[in-house]
Amino acid sequence: MSKTVCVIGAGIGGLLAGALLAKEGYQVTVLEKATRVGGSAGSYVRNKRIFPAGATIAFGLEEQGLLDMLFTELDLNVPFVLLDHPMDVVMEDRQISLYCNKKAWEEELARVFPERQRDVIAFWNKLEQISEAVYGVTATGVSLPIQRVYDLGKLPSHAVTHPGSMLRLARHATRTVEDLLRTYKLDRYEPLRQFIDAQLLDAAQTDCTEAALLPSSLALTIYRRGSFYVEKGMSQLSERLAERIVELGGEVITASPVTELLYQEKKWHVTSRKKTEAYDVVVNNAGVSFGPRTSHSESKEFAWGAFRIDALLSDTFWQQELEGKPLPFAIQIVPDKDQTVLHSNGHGPVYVTFQPAYDRRNERVENEIMMTCSIHTYAELWEELSKEEYKEKKDIVAQAMLAEIQKVLPVEDYVLYLEAGSPETYKKYIGKSEVGGFPLTVKNAILKPKSVRSSLPQLYIVGEQSFPGPGTLSSALSGSHVARAVMKTWPLK
Ligand SMILES: Cc1cc2nc3c(=O)[nH]c(=O)nc-3n(C[C@H](O)[C@H](O)[C@H](O)COP(=O)(O)OP(=O)(O)OC[C@H]3O[C@@H](n4cnc5c(N)ncnc54)[C@H](O)[C@@H]3O)c2cc1C
Repeated sequence: MSKTVCVIGAGIGGLLAGALLAKEGYQVTVLEKATRVGGSAGSYVRNKRIFPAGATIAFGLEEQGLLDMLFTELDLNVPFVLLDHPMDVVMEDRQISLYCNKKAWEEELARVFPERQRDVIAFWNKLEQISEAVYGVTATGVSLPIQRVYDLGKLPSHAVTHPGSMLRLARHATRTVEDLLRTYKLDRYEPLRQFIDAQLLDAAQTDCTEAALLPSSLALTIYRRGSFYVEKGMSQLSERLAERIVELGGEVITASPVTELLYQEKKWHVTSRKKTEAYDVVVNNAGVSFGPRTSHSESKEFAWGAFRIDALLSDTFWQQELEGKPLPFAIQIVPDKDQTVLHSNGHGPVYVTFQPAYDRRNERVENEIMMTCSIHTYAELWEELSKEEYKEKKDIVAQAMLAEIQKVLPVEDYVLYLEAGSPETYKKYIGKSEVGGFPLTVKNAILKPKSVRSSLPQLYIVGEQSFPGPGTLSSALSGSHVARAVMKTWPLK
C-alpha cells in the first residue's frame, strides 16, 4: 500500500519535495494556508494584476543547472529568459552593472574600482574559483549535517575525482567573506564592501563580516552564472510544481491552514481548515511551529522581515536609461547615509525590479510595467501598532524608499498604482512575518547547519530555514534532500 505524506505549506521547498515523492508513488497531500501556492515564491492579486509575493529572479535554470536538473527529473518545462544584464548596484558614489560575459564583467570591475582594480579582479577570480568548488559539491546532492550515509549523495566519488577542489573547500570552510577580502587587503576598501554587502544582505541575510565564505561565494557569483526571468513571473515555477503533484495523483489544497499536528499510534494527525486526516509522514514547509521540535523557527535565531512596494508604471518607462544603458532587470540601491528613516526602519539596499505586467487571467497588460521594491526590516517594529501608527509608519517608509529610487530614476512621473506591504502583511498571507531564513553565518551554514530531519519521528522540515538556506534554489534543493530522506527511511515496499 502507498504511504501517505502531508506537506504543510506550498512554498517552493514543500512543492518540490511533494512532486518528487508523488512521482515515486507516495500519496501526497499539500495543505496551504494562502489562496495561491508558492509562499515567498508565489504571487497575489492586487488591483487586478498578479504581483510576485517576493522572489523575482530565478537561478539554476541553465542547462544542467541545479534547478534545471530537478525540473527535468519531474518532466517540467517552464519558459524563461536568460538575463544578460540582470542587475545594477547603485552605491553612494558609484554604480556597477553585473554582466554574464566574463570579459565585460572584468572591464566593469576595473572601471568601477579603478583605485584597486588589480586586487579587486584577483579577489573576484578567487571568489569564482571557490564558488566553482562549492557548486560542484552542491551538485552531488550532499545534505548537511551528515547524519546518514545517503546524506552524502555523490560526494565520495566527487571527492576522489576533485581532490584539489575538496582541499580548497576544507581550507576555506570556517572563513568569512571579510577574511577573503583581508587576504587581498581589501577589507577596508569601502566601495567594494558596499557592493558586496548589498548583494550579501539579499542572498545571505547578513554582511561580509559574518557571511560564511563558502555559500557566499556562490551567492555573489550566481547572478553571473545565470539569472533568469521566468515568463509571467516566478510563481509559474510553484504553480507548475503544484499542477505536477496533482497530475501524479496527489492533491494541493489551498486556503486550508493547518491548525494542529498530533503524533499518535505512529501516524501524524493533521488538522486543517478543509481536511483533517492521519498521515505516515509530515513535511513542514510552513516555516512556523506546530508544537515542540516541529520547526526550526523555534530556535531564537535572528531573521529578517521584508517591507515592499508593488507598483504599476506606464510602459513608456521602458525608454528610461541608467547611465546611458538600457534598464537592467533589477537595481539595488544603497540608501544615502542621511536617509535615517531607511536606516532605522529598514536595513540594506532597496531592491527594485521592473517586469511586464500580467492581469489575473495571466494575460499581458501591454501599456503597463510592474515595479516591485523591497528592503529588509525588523519584523518586530511592525507588531502591536495601532491602525493609525501602522499606516503612518508604512507611508513614511514607502515614501523614503521611493525617494531613493527617484534619485536614480524618475519613477514617480510614471506611477499608475502603488501599494505597500510590511512584515505584518506577510504574516497575514503566509503566516510568518520573518522571511528569507536564517543568516548564512559560519555557524548556521557550516558548523551547525539545520537538518531537513527533525528529532520527531516521520517529521521533516523543508525550505529556507533548512540546509542549504535562503532563496528559491536552496529551498528547492532542501526539497530534494527531504524527498530522498523519506524514500530511504520510509520506502514504499
Ligand atoms: C521580498 C523577497 C524577495 C525575494 N527575492 C528572491 C529572488 O529574487 N530570488 C530568489 O531565489 N529568492 C528570493 N527570495 C527568497 C525566496 O523567495 C524564499 O527563500 C523561498 O521562496 C522560500 O521558500 P520555502 O520553501 O521556504 O517556502 P515559503 O515561501 O516560506 O512558503 C511557506 C508556505 O507555507 C504556508 N503556510 C504558513 N503557515 C501555514 C499553515 N499553518 N498551514 C499551511 N500552510 C502554511 C505559507 O502560506 C507559504 O505558502 C525573496 C524573498 C523575499 C521575501
